[in-house]
Amino acid sequence: MLEIRIHGRGGQGAVTSAELFAQAAIMEGKYAQAFPSFGPERRGAPVVAFCRIDERPIRLRTNINEPDIVMVLDPSLLQVVDVTAGLVEQGILIINSRKGPHHFMMKKLAGAASIDAARIALDILKRPITNTVMLGALVRITAAVEVESLIEAIRQRFDAENAALNVQALQKAFTETLILYSDDCTPADWDSFAGTANIAAAAAARGKPALDYGFRWNELKPGCVITEAGNASSFRTGDWRSFRPVLNKERCIRCGLCWVFCPDMAYRENPEGYYIVDLDYCKGCGICAQECPVGAIHLEKEVEMV
Ligand code: SF4
Ligand code: SF4
Repeated sequence: MLEIRIHGRGGQGAVTSAELFAQAAIMEGKYAQAFPSFGPERRGAPVVAFCRIDERPIRLRTNINEPDIVMVLDPSLLQVVDVTAGLVEQGILIINSRKGPHHFMMKKLAGAASIDAARIALDILKRPITNTVMLGALVRITAAVEVESLIEAIRQRFDAENAALNVQALQKAFTETLILYSDDCTPADWDSFAGTANIAAAAAARGKPALDYGFRWNELKPGCVITEAGNASSFRTGDWRSFRPVLNKERCIRCGLCWVFCPDMAYRENPEGYYIVDLDYCKGCGICAQECPVGAIHLEKEVEMV
């Protein structure tokens, strides 16, 4: 049985990618499961989806804790989640990143793969949704399903126009994915690989204290809908932003509506009464720009994506 765990953020399509992969396997006469890890998901929050594929009926119904393959749709998750937890010896790690696979190679892995899926998604889909792009990398590194089956699953799932774009993105990722197999590594290579150090640094970063907003959740006025203290401040969602809000002070009337509507409470009022965004917590959703009554905020594409 092949077990795959997919890490993404709410809104990135992790569950859809697991379902498409499973659907492709079923079309080939195999048995497959795809399911998410249920939790209080919201756009931007870490989510996990699972996929099992086997030649025989699958009776397991549990989460996948010891995956053969881990696929990461968003590299910023390395600082939030231990994505390699439970990954089997000789497992495979696939990451959406501009960095080469040697950056993520670790001793326990049979192989590491990387693909700049964010760039491909923005170029072709015009949105930073990397799920079908990453499937191109996944199908390249595992023979569990044929790429034609995956393309057919995409065609059945989306309308014709979207299917064509997603297939184009998948095929581009299929050809561009960089793969490093441990069998091809020399002893000198291992000394230069940063994977273990990166994972350790990411784990240390996960211990950062939560941001102090200066008030407690139960001091908010009636009408607020926060149901749990510290929820937004617990996650530094800024690392996965594709667009950033830019303020035009000439237009701003300092009404504070950007602060009110920002789902991540990323705005801070400065001593002059302007609302300044904290990019560590801005995920680039664009709600503030949409809600600003005088058009004082516009979005600019991030140039330095991970
Ligand atoms: S919503 Fe617009 S006008 Fe109001 S404070 Fe924010 S940027 Fe300024
Ligand atoms: S784009 Fe605006 S509303 Fe969205 S997270 Fe960033 S600051 Fe908040």
